[in-house]
Amino acid sequence: MKVTEHIAQAKDTLISFEILPPLKGKSIESIYEHLDPLMEFKPAYINVTYHRSEHMFKKKADGAFEKVEIRKRPGTVGICAAIMNHYNIDAVPHLICGGFSREETENALIDLNFLGVDNVLVLRGDAPKNETFFEPEPNGNSYAIDLLDQVAHMNNGIYLEDDLQSGVKTNFCIGVAGYPEKHFEAPNMQTDMSHLKRKVENGADYIVTQMFFDNQKFFDFVGKCREMGITVPIIPGLKPLTSKKQMTTLPRIFHVDIPTDLSTEILKCKTDKDVEQVGTEWLIAQSKELKAFGVPVLHYYTLGKPKVVRKAVETIM
Ligand code: FAD
Repeated sequence: MKVTEHIAQAKDTLISFEILPPLKGKSIESIYEHLDPLMEFKPAYINVTYHRSEHMFKKKADGAFEKVEIRKRPGTVGICAAIMNHYNIDAVPHLICGGFSREETENALIDLNFLGVDNVLVLRGDAPKNETFFEPEPNGNSYAIDLLDQVAHMNNGIYLEDDLQSGVKTNFCIGVAGYPEKHFEAPNMQTDMSHLKRKVENGADYIVTQMFFDNQKFFDFVGKCREMGITVPIIPGLKPLTSKKQMTTLPRIFHVDIPTDLSTEILKCKTDKDVEQVGTEWLIAQSKELKAFGVPVLHYYTLGKPKVVRKAVETIM
């Protein structure tokens, strides 16, 4: 079922979770171990992230180094199929522009359609580690909107070859990302929001936000979207804070602020266990307030912390 259908039929705030594929070589059991403790909350769907390959240097037999491309977390499409089969629940694969030609993307979409996947979250992706700027592949999509256009075309039976309207019409529900604190590359909020608006005008069915720790930023973002005429559902993305290290890594990697009240409490903590306690309480307070605000779904980035997310979700159910 489509994410938008879940939302339309819901009588209360829905819950969804986001997971990463395991590192190459691990079995699907690691995914089930991660998700099992969360399934009692009857999530509407599970998102599975997509990871581009990284450039690495590998030592050859002659001692010289060669540049190789290694995808450390493959398996998004297969994991979605396994989750749907194992839990009888919808899975939402992320699709990214980075590292993929348009043809490879088309093939992934054909696979997803054969597997009965109804949803995709379309994203641009970031530059590989050690590279400063995002570069599309030759014949790849440059921005999320280009990838979105490709999916929307397939939803109208238009495939790459000859652009003929002769293909099977897919029927994907398309999600896109939004940034309550602005995407880090955008020169200002207004420009970023106008790019978001274009994604919606071109067929995005809903928006999921980057994580944030100050609900007011989300409320302001929703207000701006509505003022601009963006009417699709806006789903808040929530992440538990569980270590002191995240006080620097989250702002650096995700370009989000940690509110002073939260950082003050965390800096007082002696152990990461204490940080986890503070982070969980903050997540509960955020979730309760967002639920009262009337968000359609609370989307949790579980990323290795299912137990913390579990503690938060059980208090708001
Ligand atoms: P875009 O919408 O393409 O925007 C990127 C930047 O370009 C923005 O600054 C925007 O303002 C600007 N822009 C957009 N369109 C245009 C245009 N036509 N012309 C000029 N500028 C433009 N990354 C992964 O690799 N895998 C994942 O699974 C993944 N999942 C994510 C899930 C969520 C909910 C979120 C919020 C992010 C996720 N990311 C993931 C990270 C994401 O790929 C990065 O944040 C990336 O830098 C931007 O992606 P986007 O889809 O927002 O890009």
